[in-house]
Amino acid sequence: MKAVAVFPGKPDSMHLADLPEPAVEDVPDGRGVLVEVLRVGVDGTDKEINAAEYGAAPPGYDFLVTGHESFGRVLEVGPNVRDLEPGDYVTATVRRPGGSIYDRIGVYDMTTDETYYERGINLLHGYLTERYVDDAEYIVGVPAALKEIGVLLEPLSIVEKGIEQAYEIQRRLKVWRPVHAAVIGSGTLGLLATLVLRLRGLEVTTLARTEPPTLNSELVEALGARYESTRELPLLQAADRYGPFDVIFEATGASSVAFEGMEALGRNGVLVLTGISGGDQEIEVPGDRILLGFVLGNKVAVGTVNANRAHFESGVWDMALAEARYPGWLERLLTHPVRGLESYGEMMRLLTEEKRAIKVFVEVGSS
Ligand code: BGC
Ligand code: ZN
Repeated sequence: MKAVAVFPGKPDSMHLADLPEPAVEDVPDGRGVLVEVLRVGVDGTDKEINAAEYGAAPPGYDFLVTGHESFGRVLEVGPNVRDLEPGDYVTATVRRPGGSIYDRIGVYDMTTDETYYERGINLLHGYLTERYVDDAEYIVGVPAALKEIGVLLEPLSIVEKGIEQAYEIQRRLKVWRPVHAAVIGSGTLGLLATLVLRLRGLEVTTLARTEPPTLNSELVEALGARYESTRELPLLQAADRYGPFDVIFEATGASSVAFEGMEALGRNGVLVLTGISGGDQEIEVPGDRILLGFVLGNKVAVGTVNANRAHFESGVWDMALAEARYPGWLERLLTHPVRGLESYGEMMRLLTEEKRAIKVFVEVGSS
């Protein structure tokens, strides 16, 4: 069976690998679900893995099959699988539990283990292959009506977790009625965060460097949110004009922007940090001013990574709500399809060079 893989530690090593056929029996206790892969989305993490900045092969292999944003159809289930059957559309979570207490209660996205296991990223093969098998615990059903956009569920789960964390944290306030939100970045995560915050009823200002009009700015506006280029309106000025921001969702990974977010955040506000740069750049920040604002304003900043099953399930609910509220909007994010696993070269080219791409994805099978 074909799969797209890299040799971790070796830059630009993407190639077609051969994997043995998976079977439901590979998973213990009759809990196996065999899935035919239909689509796999790619993102910055895949770029970093191919650049050998990231990623490790599973034990016994010198290669790692990539791809962590999956969508597929169930082919076969083990005897102890209750809520899935052949023909069902599904997505799958990325991380698998380690040994910490968080892993043991199902919130493996909160692991405190040093080593973590993520399909397509670290120590476990990913989904850029023809079929895979996994425990039903990690496979999430998707209604057939959402099959054209189901490949967006993994990035959506990241946003769901970040926003859920914000609401959980804000329970400290006894009453929290957020009105103004800012999203920084208008790539896939920024756009999905804009969507989810709009679905929660917030007034959203989405900021990105590029001057409008772009597809990204049009998509923001189609949600009734506001798009601003930081070239014309830096974040701090945006906070004066459209704030105070009760929530800021950071999705660029630029550390300077994260610190600017701390300053731009309103009193009692929460800053959600989802991006990383992977570099080791040192920057200068107005530390005293940020500290003063944070302490006197009771502000919170939270970092968030990965997502567990519950966040994928919330993603399915929000996807259905989004289709009802903004029909066809999510499909417009799927800008760059690539056909077939053998087109991994084109996939990487689009991912690294096509600045207008929102989501590059591979059509592995046909639905
Ligand atoms: C994935 C997450 C993962 C993170 C760190 C992201 O691209 O979407 O699921 O936890 O990378 O490896
Ligand atoms: Zn990702």
